[in-house]
Amino acid sequence: MTLPKIPLAGVIGHPIAHSKSPQVHGHWLRTLGLKGHYIPMDVAPENLKKVIKALPKMGFVGANVTIPHKEKVMELVHQVTDRATLIGAVNTLIIRDDGKIIGDNTDGYGFIENLRQGAPDWTPESGPAVVLGAGGAARAVIASLLDAGVPEILISNRTRVRAETLREEFGTRLTVVDWVQAGNAIENGATIVNTTSLGMTGKPELRVPLDGLNAGAVVTDLVYNPLKTHLLAAAEQAGCTTVDGLGMLLHQAVPGFERWFGMRPIVDDATRQAALR
Ligand code: NAP
Repeated sequence: MTLPKIPLAGVIGHPIAHSKSPQVHGHWLRTLGLKGHYIPMDVAPENLKKVIKALPKMGFVGANVTIPHKEKVMELVHQVTDRATLIGAVNTLIIRDDGKIIGDNTDGYGFIENLRQGAPDWTPESGPAVVLGAGGAARAVIASLLDAGVPEILISNRTRVRAETLREEFGTRLTVVDWVQAGNAIENGATIVNTTSLGMTGKPELRVPLDGLNAGAVVTDLVYNPLKTHLLAAAEQAGCTTVDGLGMLLHQAVPGFERWFGMRPIVDDATRQAALR
């Protein structure tokens, strides 16, 4: 009698000890009563190629990929999805039965799902979005906001040229706003997103003027440590709807889990508690 194979998945990064993914996937495996394992894998850059190549032979059905490998891994897989190509990074690997590895990116999906869950009345078409920051996370946010149907994105970044590069890539629905003018852009925003690392524990505070926040805006921060950032506290004070960044991390994990382990998990308070444990 042959025993059924137990699916293996995990997260590849360097370092990896900080990752919340093993707690989240472990929580879903337990609560859904599924057989499977999800493990953290600390892989140094010089070993990435060998490790990726070995995954199918070791019984892995997939993996998440995190800092610093999200870009490099694109050239190590057999196929990259359109959305991962657009974002320029891969965070989820799907390993098919024939051993071929597909690289996908679920960050934009996670961002939008979190917004929809946290602000159910949010309508992308209701006005311009303001995106602060132009790093890797901003790319996923911009791609997903455009896909959701926002009419215009005002993007502002300390290093202006990075925002201009995104405008060239993502097109004319983007308008670049100088970093010193970011406060003015916020006055016009229906959806406001901080994609910079400012406000994170150990980093400087986000100093953009926030007195122009209007109560009708939906404000979200990708920073989730602390959960209530200065931006979210100010937005709450101004009467805006606020959505914290932890949900993005949780929602981006859903498509991979479903594909690897065969059931779609839900992101609820217990999932949040598992991540915060
Ligand atoms: P990144 O590529 O390194 O980009 C960092 C961004 O922050 C850039 O726009 C950078 O501006 C800006 N920045 C950094 N220090 C600054 C300062 N002192 N003043 C003004 N701007 C500053 O990082 P990333 O991957 O995009 O991640 C950004 C943040 O999002 C991180 O905190 C990350 O943890 C978080 N994140 C959260 C999720 C989630 O699931 N919630 C997912 C992805 C990322 P310059 O271009 O001028 O350097």
